[in-house]
Amino acid sequence: MMFSIPDLSIDDQAPARFRPQPGSRTEAARHRRLRRDLTAAVERHNFILHYQPRLSLATGERTGLEALLRWPQARHGIVSAASFIPLAEEAGLITTIGGWVLLAACREAMRWQQPWVVSVNVSPRQITEGALLGQVAAALDVSGLDPERLELELAESTLLGVDIDSLLTLSAIRDLGAGVGLDNFGTGLASLSMLKRLPLTSMKIDRSLVRDLPLDGEDAAIVRAVIDTAKALGLIAVAEGIETEAQRAFLAACGCPEGQGFLFGRPAPAEALRSAA
Ligand code: C2E
Ligand code: MG
Repeated sequence: MMFSIPDLSIDDQAPARFRPQPGSRTEAARHRRLRRDLTAAVERHNFILHYQPRLSLATGERTGLEALLRWPQARHGIVSAASFIPLAEEAGLITTIGGWVLLAACREAMRWQQPWVVSVNVSPRQITEGALLGQVAAALDVSGLDPERLELELAESTLLGVDIDSLLTLSAIRDLGAGVGLDNFGTGLASLSMLKRLPLTSMKIDRSLVRDLPLDGEDAAIVRAVIDTAKALGLIAVAEGIETEAQRAFLAACGCPEGQGFLFGRPAPAEALRSAA
């Protein structure tokens, strides 16, 4: 399968690991090599998924697992998503990768001991290129997963300026029975009225708001308000990036139903997480 890859410009936002050194004589060559390697990885499906547990903050029981993409790369070892997703988006590869992720995650969820929800991150390109609904339907059909066990995660920034076609796509996905979660809430400029318009089932409180809890009074007030708003709208609030017991205790006391973070478990290969252990 051939992919058409646009020329990549130097991206200030790209992760440091792959950011070409300004003025470096090898800059263009490195960029070309990386694009070539990523394209080859897509053609060979040479990716893996790690999974990170999500828990009920009231009981400590696992409620689901988030699939996080990893690229086993000859030169860099296992590369995490944050380091290459921007490149995959620029190179026009993310929609193909996203289809693979959906199917692989649904298949993996069929092997779990309990009916935990699997959360899959979705790129805005999968929506704007008109692929997402078909990819979700195919992943559910081929894997046989109960649609209620699949939840898509869309970054808050993705949904700013969401058009009518995207809304229809998300509604159709909800009609299939899958959930739609708003990811990284608190990092963009999403308005509360947008929360009402979108067919959402959950929202994730970004880890930048969790990091300084419980000492930062402003973050504490914002997080409390977000948890209350989610509850009032019938959405499950999930606090991300919980690293300390003090953060967990504060969020639990605020009534945040679910949480995720290094305190409970780092992203790990699927085999390690199939049972509750
Ligand atoms: P995200 O969806 O917000 O995922 C959470 C990121 O935070 C993950 O990084 C995870 O390893 C990290 N993390 C989890 N708990 C903690 C914690 O307690 N502390 C800290 N400091 N970090 C924590 P990762 O795996 O590098 O993923 C980065 C982003 O890449 C994800 O952010 C998501 O937006 C995107 N991504 C991951 N997998 C996919 C995918 O399959 N498709 C698409 N389109 N995007 C993906
Ligand atoms: Mg996510």
